Amino acid sequence: MQMTILDGKIVANKLKDEIKEKVSSLEIKPGLAVICIGDNPASKIYVKLKRKMCEELGIYIEEHNYDENVTQDELLELIDDLNEDDSIHGILLQSPIPYHLNILELFDRISPKKDVDGFNSVNVGKLSQGQDCFVPCTPLGIMRILKEYNIEVEGKNCVVVGRSNIVGRPMAQLLINANATVTVCHSKTKNLSEITKTADILIVAVGKPKFITADMVKDGVTVVDVGINRVEGSKRIKGDVDFENVKDKCEFITPVPGGVGPMTIITLMGNLLKAYEDLTND
Ligand code: NAP
Repeated sequence: MQMTILDGKIVANKLKDEIKEKVSSLEIKPGLAVICIGDNPASKIYVKLKRKMCEELGIYIEEHNYDENVTQDELLELIDDLNEDDSIHGILLQSPIPYHLNILELFDRISPKKDVDGFNSVNVGKLSQGQDCFVPCTPLGIMRILKEYNIEVEGKNCVVVGRSNIVGRPMAQLLINANATVTVCHSKTKNLSEITKTADILIVAVGKPKFITADMVKDGVTVVDVGINRVEGSKRIKGDVDFENVKDKCEFITPVPGGVGPMTIITLMGNLLKAYEDLTND
């Protein structure tokens, strides 16, 4: 059986060209506000990448940086202002945030119409009902990769390992909405490998390097590896899948890096454009 690598860079570049063309035709540019709290080095890198992407696409971006002592009320007030600001179409709160803050309350204060990360409970609820809404970027990007490679989802047995609000849960919802038969696994799942072996499509978002091994998948499986793990002694990031050994059993597989990762920021830009279009057509 021939194995195909699902190249997220190619799909992301295609999406980038589509978005760039649309943005270039707009008189008023879409605007993104990013709220960043504290000095988390990974957050700083992600915000820098988002800024770079916005600049390349001609999208306005503003950063609201706070130190770790910021209060919940200050942030709620900022979000209220951004909700009212017509030049801002998308608002995102960069996580992680300090423990003294209530992140769910902050997500819920963002207008559902500007919730480009899809973390507001209105959008979470709409996703679970199969309604049009903002969907978290990583699972939405995965659906786009599957579509670009003509991987049929309907009727397939899909297994999602991981149930986080950012990846696993919305991934499962998207697959259900696309008529797959979906099983969600997590740290309390028993006989995990018996379940993963039933997967036609296996999506792994656990955060443990080489967590999925070759004996855990069946021949002809499609494997999507969401993991981003930094391993001591290696400069390259590693996925959750033992790629070298698993790939020989796959029909399709995403590499790490170069699979799911490149899709996330460009999918955010797609969500921003959707917010812009929805808000300007209101
Ligand atoms: P998370 O919030 O830590 O969730 C991890 C999930 O894995 C949890 O649901 C947990 O189960 C489950 N899990 C842990 N140990 C397990 C085990 N032994 N067996 C089965 N399930 C187990 O992580 P996340 O935010 O979803 O991210 C997962 C990975 O994806 C991380 O490496 C992260 O860096 C990466 N990521 C990548 C992108 C991207 O753009 N490529 C975006 C987001 C995240 P419980 O719920 O029972 O604890």
